[in-house]
Amino acid sequence: MKNLMAKIINGKEIAARVRAELREEILSLKEKHGVTPGLSVVLVGDNPASRVYVRNKGKASEEVGIHSAQYDLPESTSEKELLDLVDRLNKDSSVSGILVQLPLPKHIDEEKVIEAILPSKDVDGFHPYNVGRLMIGAPTLQPCTPYGVMMLLDSTGVDLSGKNAVVVGRSNIVGKPMAMMLLKRNATVTICHSRTADLAEKIKSAEVLVAAIGKAKFVKGDWVREGAIVIDVGMNKDADGKLCGDVDFEGASERASFITPVPGGVGPMTIAMLLKNTVESARKAAGL
Ligand code: NDP
Repeated sequence: MKNLMAKIINGKEIAARVRAELREEILSLKEKHGVTPGLSVVLVGDNPASRVYVRNKGKASEEVGIHSAQYDLPESTSEKELLDLVDRLNKDSSVSGILVQLPLPKHIDEEKVIEAILPSKDVDGFHPYNVGRLMIGAPTLQPCTPYGVMMLLDSTGVDLSGKNAVVVGRSNIVGKPMAMMLLKRNATVTICHSRTADLAEKIKSAEVLVAAIGKAKFVKGDWVREGAIVIDVGMNKDADGKLCGDVDFEGASERASFITPVPGGVGPMTIAMLLKNTVESARKAAGL
């Protein structure tokens, strides 16, 4: 018997709900405690994609009532100048979260800059201190994209405990933290990457599949296990220049129980979780 078509996990709608809840929470933080969360976003150079991301982050912040400040630095900015700015923002009590947009120009050491951000203001969740806390399962600021994926998974109402979860991709911003978060929820996690042998076989065992590869429609529909939950993190262009994910959506949705579309799945969650992290930082800083 053919499986019914998968239910679509509507990331756009879930992200809008998160933002609406944050708007309420921020109002109450302001009224009851005089606290206004602040997000400082630093952009170095002129990468057009980064410019769009930064603009969207600023806009989304203002819409929920977060005070946002953007620092546009020229490509020629030295590492020292950037570190000095980070230091100033670390010391500024009106700044709850600091985000340095990656990638940075080649002459600047990204690791050094990330490590210079106060862990309590690291709303991207990239500082080794926060990564370490995630690893040991302690509460921490979590990287926005996998954090958003967890919320999408929770929206299905499916208990992850004991499920076979396969994460394809092992980047520090998506794959690795994703695996840790699934592990914390008692899934049995397999991490796959470009050297994985028999990737299709691994994927066929997945009751929960998270694809974070960066290759258009790489995961074929018939690799997807019947009834699997499929989360597609990929943001790629297909042959016609249209935005698409890492998974062949049409094929996969004939077998999956739940699936995220691209666009409108994981993408909108990333910024929503950045806002959530900023509010959490502001709360903590105010001792709330
Ligand atoms: P990276 O390029 O850093 O990582 C890609 C991962 O995929 C690597 O671990 C790589 O393996 C693995 N991989 C590459 N080719 C294959 C293959 N043939 N078989 C199996 N694994 C493979 O990308 P990111 O993690 O930063 O991003 C992944 C995707 O998610 C991209 O499309 C990106 O645009 C998107 N993205 C979307 C976000 C959103 O908000 N929706 C946020 C962040 C990313 P190896 O380590 O061996 O090289």
